[in-house]
Amino acid sequence: MTASLPLVAIVGRPNVGKSSLFNRILRQKKAITHDRSGVTRDSLFGEVTHLEKPFTMVDTGGLVLETPQELEEEILEQAREAIYAADLILFVVDGRQGLTGMDEDVCAYLRQSGKDVVLVVNKVDGPELEETLATEFYALGFPLTCVSAAHGFGISVLQDLIEERLPVVAAEEKDPRPRLAMAMLGRPNAGKSSLINALVGTNRLIVSPVAGTTRDSVDVSFVREGTRYVFVDTAGIRRRTRIDDDLEQYSVIRALQAARRADVVVFVLDGSQELSAQDKRLISYLDREKIPFIVAVNKTDLIPRYELRTRQQDIRDALAFCGHAPLIFISALKQRGVNKIVPLAGKLVKQCMARIGTGELNRLVKMVTERHQPPMVKGRRLKMYYLTQAKSTPPTFVFFVNDPALVKPSYAKYLENQLRKFFRLDMVPLKIVFRGSH
Ligand code: GDP
Ligand code: GDP
Repeated sequence: MTASLPLVAIVGRPNVGKSSLFNRILRQKKAITHDRSGVTRDSLFGEVTHLEKPFTMVDTGGLVLETPQELEEEILEQAREAIYAADLILFVVDGRQGLTGMDEDVCAYLRQSGKDVVLVVNKVDGPELEETLATEFYALGFPLTCVSAAHGFGISVLQDLIEERLPVVAAEEKDPRPRLAMAMLGRPNAGKSSLINALVGTNRLIVSPVAGTTRDSVDVSFVREGTRYVFVDTAGIRRRTRIDDDLEQYSVIRALQAARRADVVVFVLDGSQELSAQDKRLISYLDREKIPFIVAVNKTDLIPRYELRTRQQDIRDALAFCGHAPLIFISALKQRGVNKIVPLAGKLVKQCMARIGTGELNRLVKMVTERHQPPMVKGRRLKMYYLTQAKSTPPTFVFFVNDPALVKPSYAKYLENQLRKFFRLDMVPLKIVFRGSH
C-alpha cells in the first residue's frame, strides 16, 4: 500500500504544458501503447520517489474526461479541487504566450486559498529567454521559476523549490500484522460513516492522524482475526462539521488520492436515489486508473420490495462498463449485507496480487485461439506469439503479436474474458497490452 505522501497538483489552462511537465518530473516518457482497445491509458497520478522527499503528483489536465461545454468553468473547477486536496500547487503558465485572462482567473482562486503556490513559467526553452518571458508574471506575486518542460531546462531548480515546500512525512508506524487498507468513497450522506460503524461493530477501533499532510485526515482501523483493516483518509467522516465538507468530500482529486492509498475502494451509493452523473464520473475514474473497487448500494431498506429487482437491474446496467467490479446491495442501518464486505475485499486483494506462470498463459493462448481464431483485418490475420504477465497489482498481461493494429476490440474483449475465466480474475481490473515484434 502506498503511504500517505504529500500531494503536488499541477494546475493551469490547456496547452501550457502541464502534462509535459508531469512527465518530465516523473522522468518517464509517456508509454507508447500499441493497444487498440483502449485498455491502457496514461495515468493522472504519479509517484515521485527519486527525490529526497517523495510526493504524489496529479496532472489536473488529465481530469477533463469529456469535452466540457464551458472549458473555463471546468478548469476553475479543477483548480478548486486542487486547492482542497493539494499540499502544494504548481501553477503553470505559457511564457511564450504571455499572461492571459484565464491565467488571471486561475490565479485569483489560488490566491484566495492561502495554499502554497509555485508559479511555473513554462516554454522558456533556454536561460537567455528567462528575462524577456518571465517579466510580466512577477506581478502575480507568487514565487516564480522558469522551466522548459520539453527540453529539461530549469527542472532541477523547480524540484528544489518543491522539496523546500513539502511537509515532512513521518515514518509510518510499524505494525507486524498484515493490513488491508480500504477507502470509502461516495457522496455525502450515502452512508459511509454508518457503514464504517457497522463494520467496526465491537471490534477494536484505532484512530490515527495521517502524518505529512496539511489536511485534517485520519485513518480509522480495526483488527479482526489477526488482520488490521484500515479505512484511509476518512476526514469528514468522524468530524461532523460540514461547513465546507460537501465539496471537499466529493472532490475527484481527493477521492482518487484516498483510493490510491487503499488496497480496495468501497464505493458507497445511496440506493434510494438515482445514480448521479458525479457518481458515474468517479466510478469511471476508478475504472480508468485500474483501482480495485466494490460498489456497495446502500439504504436498500428504503426501496420498496416490489421495486427492488428493477432498481438492482438499473444499477447493473448503468455500471455495465465496469462489469468486473463486485456489486452488492446492503443496508448499513439494518446491518444487512454488511458482513460481505471484508471477505470480498480480501478476495479482491488476492486477485490483484495474482501471479500466473508463462507456461499456463501460453497454454491458454493456444486453447483460446484454436477455439476462436482472430478475425481477418484487411486480408491479414493477427498472430499471437507469446503471452506474459508483466506485473501484478493490478495484473498486467502483455501479448506479443505480429501487429497490434490487427487486434479488434471485440477480440481483445474475448481474450480478456478468457483470462478472467481461466485464472479466476473475475473481480479485479486487468491491464492488457498488445505489443508488436519489431
Ligand atoms: P497541457 O494541455 O497543459 O497538458 O499541455 P501539453 O503538455 O499537452 O503541451 C501543450 C503543447 O506545448 C505541446 O505541443 C507541447 O509540445 C508544447 N510544450 C510543452 N512544454 C514545452 C516547452 O517547454 N517548450 C516548448 N517550446 N513547447 C512546449
Ligand atoms: P456519509 O456522509 O456518507 O458518511 O453518510 P452517513 O453515514 O452520515 O449517513 C447519512 C444519513 O443516511 C444518516 O442519516 C444515516 O442514518 C442514513 N443512513 C445511512 N445508512 C442507511 C441505511 O442503510 N438505511 C437508511 N434508511 N438510512 C441510512
